Amino acid sequence: MKYVGAHVSASGGVENAVVRASELDATAFALFTKNQRQWRAAPLSTESIDNFKTACEEYHFTPGQILPHDSYLINLGHPVEEALEKSRNAFVDELQRCEQLGLTLLNFHPGSHLLQISEDDCLARIAESINRALDVTTGVTAVIENTAGQGSNLGFRFEHLAAIIDGVEDKSRVGVCIDTCHAFAAGYDLRSEEACQKTFEDFERIVGFQYLRGMHLNDAKSEFGSRVDRHHSLGEGNIGHTAFSWIMRDPRFDNIPLILETVNPDIWAEEIAWLKAQQHSANAA
Ligand SMILES: [Zn+2]
Ligand SMILES: [Zn+2]
Repeated sequence: MKYVGAHVSASGGVENAVVRASELDATAFALFTKNQRQWRAAPLSTESIDNFKTACEEYHFTPGQILPHDSYLINLGHPVEEALEKSRNAFVDELQRCEQLGLTLLNFHPGSHLLQISEDDCLARIAESINRALDVTTGVTAVIENTAGQGSNLGFRFEHLAAIIDGVEDKSRVGVCIDTCHAFAAGYDLRSEEACQKTFEDFERIVGFQYLRGMHLNDAKSEFGSRVDRHHSLGEGNIGHTAFSWIMRDPRFDNIPLILETVNPDIWAEEIAWLKAQQHSANAA
């Protein structure tokens, strides 16, 4: 089963995200459980939690179809002790909000060394941050997203993801989400079926599909290998349609949320319908 959707707005309350996803005819969705640009947020109200759970039941979304994303401010590999602590606390809060909503995945960007510590040191800090957070929470898997490698962001090599997983004690609660735009910008080619096969062979060898918990399906305005993170609508960017059709026909991407973060929400319903249709197309290339 392929679960397809988009990162929808949760404005007015997390329960609204469920309704918005359903309006797109989506079978998956992503959301922020708090304002992603602020450190602090009011706790989720009992009412909001109940409404969210009821809406999920009503519109048939199980936790495996929902991929919440944490705040952009969090840096689990921060080189400065105080700032690292602040991020670690905020990350635990994000995991707890997921727990309260009955969700099982939390997607996050690994972290940045800010040119102050080595890549290896930063990766070790990220793993340690995950260990601490998993220790004080239950039931939610930490889902590391690959990055485009902008600035000093780590996670742009599959090896970075593997190194973080290696440092996590509870392997049953760590996974990865691959963003196609980020992968492409980081130098993993996706412009043909052969290129997709090669990229995901590398992924299988270095990380392993057993850790794949979600995908972000984005075309790229950015150039191949540019390390610049600019999303585009499917088929309109430098990746092109082929990769997305190929993913929809490959069973290794079954049963995980496949989430659009493409630039034009007005065509999300269309993009979702197109993706669903690819499952049955013989070869769309
Ligand atoms: Zn993404
Ligand atoms: Zn991005």
